[in-house]
Amino acid sequence: MRYFLKYTPYIFRKSRVIQLTFFVTRRCNSKCSFCFYLSQEPEVHEKELSLEEIERFSESMGELLWLLFSGGEVFLRDDIVEIAKVFYRNNRPAILTLPTNALLPELIYERTREIVKSCPESVVVLKLSLDGIGGEHDAIRGVRGNFEKVMETYSLVKELLRYPNFELGVNTVFCSANQDSIMEVLRFVEREMPEIRTHTVSLVRGNPRDTGMKQVDLEKYRETISFLERKLDSRHGSYSFAGSRLKTAQDILQRRLIYETARQNRRLIPCYAGRLNLVVTENGDVYPCEILSEKLGNLRESGYSIPRILESERAKRVIGDIASGKCHCTHECYFVTNILFNPAMYPKLLGEYIKLFRKKKSNGSRE
Ligand code: SF4
Ligand code: SF4
Repeated sequence: MRYFLKYTPYIFRKSRVIQLTFFVTRRCNSKCSFCFYLSQEPEVHEKELSLEEIERFSESMGELLWLLFSGGEVFLRDDIVEIAKVFYRNNRPAILTLPTNALLPELIYERTREIVKSCPESVVVLKLSLDGIGGEHDAIRGVRGNFEKVMETYSLVKELLRYPNFELGVNTVFCSANQDSIMEVLRFVEREMPEIRTHTVSLVRGNPRDTGMKQVDLEKYRETISFLERKLDSRHGSYSFAGSRLKTAQDILQRRLIYETARQNRRLIPCYAGRLNLVVTENGDVYPCEILSEKLGNLRESGYSIPRILESERAKRVIGDIASGKCHCTHECYFVTNILFNPAMYPKLLGEYIKLFRKKKSNGSRE
């Protein structure tokens, strides 16, 4: 309720950024074939924003509904706990998401535990990447033994579920390499990883290293999202935090919209990137989203001020182009805000919410 009241005004006025994706590093210990962000440049480390620089730009922003750390492998930043604390102090994110390739189990456990303890009023979501079973996962990720590491990480971090603000999930990238076996991955997680509350599937996006990864059969994607909807009967398909049924209803709408956007190859609903969402890269470049290549500015050249960047003529032009519908994509993160902050979506959202409520009730009466 607290967050509902706090963020309701932004449904009507898209007047400030409430969702930030921060690419904390470009370094990674994995070599995924669908990656669009990996860099082999040795000097990439030196260009990363320091903790002091991060503090300065975070101070220029207001409170955040959702902070998503991205990369690279986020846990490769030795100061990731300190970075989380900076945002917690300055922006109080309601949700803080940490995706990981799970290659460093002990380190991920230790750093996640510190973040969970240091950010008690944020829901800290750890997302383990899993794209196949056994050797298939290793082949897609380009790292032998990666699958075992995911399972080892899972065994360690599930202990953190004793903290009420910790949420554990899995994400699978739907790509040409696993489109025929993805159901096995979904069933495996349900069977062998019972502490996983949510299993999300991201449709491959951007310009991957291996462009063949984007040769997907959309009907197989549709079958996958139908399976995920049916899974809502189980504990696996639903979040545990307050307002989780609304989030689940939004997930259902989101997957259908993504399928239709890809099928029709056009934008179906307005996009609020640049107004409600922003992306900051490890070297301080600022973009409206992860997909568009035209940057709005750079923090180092703009006194570490997000408002100053957004007031520039360049930012106004790019954001104007987005509002006029010049681009489209299937990136899941933007559909979250594009659905939840769009009143035109509410009748459908309410419909899904009521269906979930009824389903839960009828399951309860059967038990
Ligand atoms: S997709 Fe993520 S984990 Fe895989 S190589 Fe790219 S940055 Fe690393
Ligand atoms: S529709 Fe996609 S590409 Fe266009 S601004 Fe929104 S998130 Fe970016």
